[in-house]
Amino acid sequence: MSAKIIDTEIEYLKGVGPARADLFKKELGIFSFGDLLNYFPFRYIDRSGMNKIADVKIDSGMVQISGYFSGAEVQGRGRASRLSVNFSDESGSITVIWFKSHNWVLEKINPHTKFILFGKVNMFNRQLYIPHPEMMSIDEFKAVYFSGKMQPVYNSTEKLKSKGLDSKAIGKLMAEALVRCRGQFAETLPDALREKLLLPSIDEAYKNVHIPDDSKLLDRSLKRFRFEEALFLQLRHRIQVKRRKQAKSNIVLKTVGEHFNYFYYKNLGFELTGAQKRVMKDIHKDLAGAYRMNRLLQGDVGSGKTVVALMSMLIAVDNGYQACMMAPTEILAQQHYNTIRNLLRDMKVSVRLLTGSTKAKEKREILQELEEGSINIIVGTHALIEDPVKFQKLALAVIDEQHRFGVKQRAKLQKKSTDPIHVLVMTATPIPRTLALSVYGDLDVSIIDELPPGRKPVQTLFFTESTRNKVIKLMKQQLAQKRQIYIVYPLISESEKLDLIALESGYEGVVRDFPMPPFEVGILHGRMKHDDKDRTMDRFKRGIADILVSTTVIEVGVDVPNASMMVIENAERFGLAQLHQLRGRVGRGADQSYCVLMGGNKLSDEGKARINAMLSSNDGFVIAEEDMKMRGPGDILGTRQSGELDFKWLDLIRDFKIINYAKKLAAEIVEDDPELVKPENQCLRNAFIQYGGKNSFLNIA
Ligand code: ADP
Ligand code: MG
Repeated sequence: MSAKIIDTEIEYLKGVGPARADLFKKELGIFSFGDLLNYFPFRYIDRSGMNKIADVKIDSGMVQISGYFSGAEVQGRGRASRLSVNFSDESGSITVIWFKSHNWVLEKINPHTKFILFGKVNMFNRQLYIPHPEMMSIDEFKAVYFSGKMQPVYNSTEKLKSKGLDSKAIGKLMAEALVRCRGQFAETLPDALREKLLLPSIDEAYKNVHIPDDSKLLDRSLKRFRFEEALFLQLRHRIQVKRRKQAKSNIVLKTVGEHFNYFYYKNLGFELTGAQKRVMKDIHKDLAGAYRMNRLLQGDVGSGKTVVALMSMLIAVDNGYQACMMAPTEILAQQHYNTIRNLLRDMKVSVRLLTGSTKAKEKREILQELEEGSINIIVGTHALIEDPVKFQKLALAVIDEQHRFGVKQRAKLQKKSTDPIHVLVMTATPIPRTLALSVYGDLDVSIIDELPPGRKPVQTLFFTESTRNKVIKLMKQQLAQKRQIYIVYPLISESEKLDLIALESGYEGVVRDFPMPPFEVGILHGRMKHDDKDRTMDRFKRGIADILVSTTVIEVGVDVPNASMMVIENAERFGLAQLHQLRGRVGRGADQSYCVLMGGNKLSDEGKARINAMLSSNDGFVIAEEDMKMRGPGDILGTRQSGELDFKWLDLIRDFKIINYAKKLAAEIVEDDPELVKPENQCLRNAFIQYGGKNSFLNIA
């Protein structure tokens, strides 16, 4: 590829040079002209309107006035001196003041030149004045704002500012870069499409984002970039789905046989809910069909996903294949393993557990048996995707809580089989529609939207320290009924040590209120030895321990139906999704359960909002929507670091309509031209290839 102006190093832009270039790279990740132009203003100030001085009031905020200076006067001396100047338009006049250094002002102002001032109104001694306004001569103003419209505001940093790179200076560099790069951007959207949607060309769009001609063009330009990003995302998903559905699967799991039936009729012990049956049907259809399954199974905590996953794995076993289930934490893997072992009791299905702490000898054994095929189902953590793990005949991978696994890890799992395997992704984080659309667009979705019968909704309560005695009373009631209680502490401080201290002193407090014997209080945290964790968890699961004091290690998947109370300490410090997950640990039996949120007397606004959301809804989808509004989508799925949701321009909440439209359009385009080879789709195709990296898959097909 020939060198392009947009790829030119930022250092060579007029007004930058090596020192500023260095800062641009370090502070903003801007390396090239193109990077700079992709650094969009974070807001705009409308500079199209002028205020009349006569209308200016103390509560006018930022005002823009145009007029003439007169009667400059320096008051005071030395460092305490200030410059006071009169500024008038045809409606009236106001005082403008510069403190400290003002020689440059004196040099600049001229009674015969019209100036534009922009600043905040203040009052002193009942006199209105404007301190340190931004000042431009009418010619300068016209040069900067062209036709005098919206002013872009760029985020800068202290370090950038120390090299003179404030918002205004960045704006000047943008103007320079725009001139240099004009005509250099490859158009990514077909003309016909742009015309239909009234979207500007890529050149026009860059120009108007940085130097808007008017607010309408600005809106359209921003929309263009958002739409572009949404469209490419959706095209990628559509093409992936299309290819998957074209690639015949060699693993056809038609038989529902001995193991499945034995389990269903002998061991299950309850009737599947309607939703579970429906989802099971979806899955079986996929497994028995001609194409590879790639399905997302969504269901609120406690909706019974594990059973569905197990039955799916039994179908694999019935067809002479192996299945694996991967969980994000050791505790969860262990828990799944125990649950599955228990559910498969008396059955001739070999189930093993492989995690990071599996002993070397046992691990060797497991690896060998996996490769020979004598293990039918393996449960584990990331340890399952390590290189030495080889399967004889893997057919199905169940991934629990998938958002903690990245794309790379999924790919690694896929490599465990020569034939493309079926994948079932389970998540208990109800995913708001926009997110599902954007992140999981390449997955088919099944939803368990029904809880097993006879469950009472968890009652959620809020208490502060001064009413803790009420909580203790409620705890005593629950314990008297032979129920069990979780008490969870957040990870608050930067240092694990301090958190541990908080947890331990909390534990001591609990033991004081509930002395051992007759009570047994367990403690669980991430720093404990594996065996100790196991022992503690085991005693709680078996009902020997009454209370479990822990950190969030129990957040996902822990299943103790007899536990009827969840006390969350410093609840305001938890994220909303996390609170909901924790609440899901109780309410699994038929009796009334409680989730107690403990909080300080003074809560931050966000803390309050989260607690209110918890108090007002038990519905995971409602909670998730709220959470997404409060925190943004990246945090919800824990994908912030993995970069999967790193959109440049798109905002999953604000741009819901755009995403929806892009999805529809992408489906039409791919239906008509799956490989984007038609002439009218040429620029879409080129864009894919150019985007490179994660967006480019057309060329790696
Ligand atoms: P999830 O993984 O979706 O959070 P689980 O699969 O752990 O939920 O199920 C929660 C609890 O409900 C488990 O104790 C499970 O045995 C039980 N369960 C699942 N399905 C049903 C059902 N249809 N009827 C009664 N209990 C069920
Ligand atoms: Mg579960």
